[in-house]
Amino acid sequence: MGVYECTHTPIPTATRKHASYTCEVQRLHQMIPTVLPKLVVEPGSAVLPKLVVEPGSANLEREKPTKSRHERKEITMRVAIVGGGYGGVYLSKALEARNVDVVLVERNERFFHKIGGGRAFIESGFEEKVFLEFDELLQRRDSCVLIGEARALNVNTKTLSVWCGREADEKRDINFDAIVFAMGVRHTFGQLPDEGLMLDDLLATCKREQDRLAMVDVIVVVGGGALGIETSSQIADTYKDKTVHLLHSRGALMSGAGSKELGDLVKTKLEALGVNVHLGCGRIEKEDVQRQYPGSLVLMATGCRMSDSSRSLLDPRWINDETSEIRVGPSLRVENAPDFVYAIGDIAATGDYKQARWAHRHAEVVAANICGGNKIYQPLRSNPWFIRPLSYILCWWVRARVDSTLVIALKLGLHEHVMEFGGILFSDYFTRRKMEKDTGIAHVRKSALSLPPN
Ligand SMILES: Cc1cc2nc3c(=O)[nH]c(=O)nc-3n(C[C@H](O)[C@H](O)[C@H](O)COP(=O)(O)OP(=O)(O)OC[C@H]3O[C@@H](n4cnc5c(N)ncnc54)[C@H](O)[C@@H]3O)c2cc1C
Repeated sequence: MGVYECTHTPIPTATRKHASYTCEVQRLHQMIPTVLPKLVVEPGSAVLPKLVVEPGSANLEREKPTKSRHERKEITMRVAIVGGGYGGVYLSKALEARNVDVVLVERNERFFHKIGGGRAFIESGFEEKVFLEFDELLQRRDSCVLIGEARALNVNTKTLSVWCGREADEKRDINFDAIVFAMGVRHTFGQLPDEGLMLDDLLATCKREQDRLAMVDVIVVVGGGALGIETSSQIADTYKDKTVHLLHSRGALMSGAGSKELGDLVKTKLEALGVNVHLGCGRIEKEDVQRQYPGSLVLMATGCRMSDSSRSLLDPRWINDETSEIRVGPSLRVENAPDFVYAIGDIAATGDYKQARWAHRHAEVVAANICGGNKIYQPLRSNPWFIRPLSYILCWWVRARVDSTLVIALKLGLHEHVMEFGGILFSDYFTRRKMEKDTGIAHVRKSALSLPPN
């Protein structure tokens, strides 16, 4: 890409220790320009102008007013976050709210609104909406978003090595006081390649997937979980002339959610959209499906796993190979790692369903613990007591009462939704009013990235 220019000298660990308190802040500020790389934007480049804000630079439009003596007695520390998805973004905000400096390392040039990723891979034009700017995310003058791929970590020297630039040929070392892994996991559809991409390549990736779909008459989606359901319904709704099959190993859709009512309702809605649902297919291999449906496009939507790049960054002792996740304790510290190493979001073995909302909750716990708290993360394992009575009160909107504790909001095609919250399956009347037609983009623009509506 050739648009980055950086000079970099890491702060020696000993110096950073002394620079921890405000009496040393000025000295720290003098050093930081050598640590934080400078982003130089070439004329005509699509690179975002305010990704890296240098102390003392003319970019400091949001410089804070001079603090009172009392306020100045804050501890300054720097947290490196690997991964600028939902978890990384939520955590950056939670840390900044506690006056902590953040270096958010994200390998893609833009935030990827993964929740709308499936739709961006299917519906032409939608890809323009799902890659969002990081410009407004960080407010502290010593925080920055660094676009590059984290590829090496030294916990002894507290150094993270990040490769930047289109060719990933510029290495920068980031020093940190604490580090958080928020690299997410790879899904089987609606998934970007396992490498960093600039905006033009991100858009081209979506277009390529859209073209693959446009060229075939028959599409077979394998996996009747949330991803397979959303994918097949979206394709059927977008391409009314194509034949769409959804194959699921078990006897009911959304079998992981353990709610027959939910599975039955989803099946009815999928069939109304024209999806051919096949249940009880047992273990399904891609090659077998290709033989059974010659000439079709087979899309696997059968779970997720840690990416190879994440695996190579991490100490193997931190990884649970069975679940392909990072082992964490109740404080979300990584097990077998020093106590300044944390993991959040999909990549952390918290026992949660893989959903952005849990990454949000993890971020709050980790932000508190980094700042000296002792917060314990407790995944929701039972419904609160008021849920059953509430379901009676809401009877106009409640379709059925089920036992699941999951929070599920499925988008079916372009206009249909199904929502289950706290064991209550909501009727269409409620769901259509609650769910956003834009797959949550307006919400994430405003609440997570502080961007204006587009
Ligand atoms: C099609 C689809 C629909 C979904 N719908 C919903 C939904 O409706 N509701 C819901 O709650 N959840 C939904 N999910 C799940 C949700 O997207 C994930 O739970 C969520 O993205 C997890 O957030 P995360 O921050 O852990 O990881 P991610 O959002 O995956 O972010 C990880 C980030 O880390 C970056 N990264 C990885 N490795 C490196 C590295 N070495 N260096 C730098 N950066 C790196 C990646 O580029 C990525 O941006 C959906 C998922 C898919 C695929």
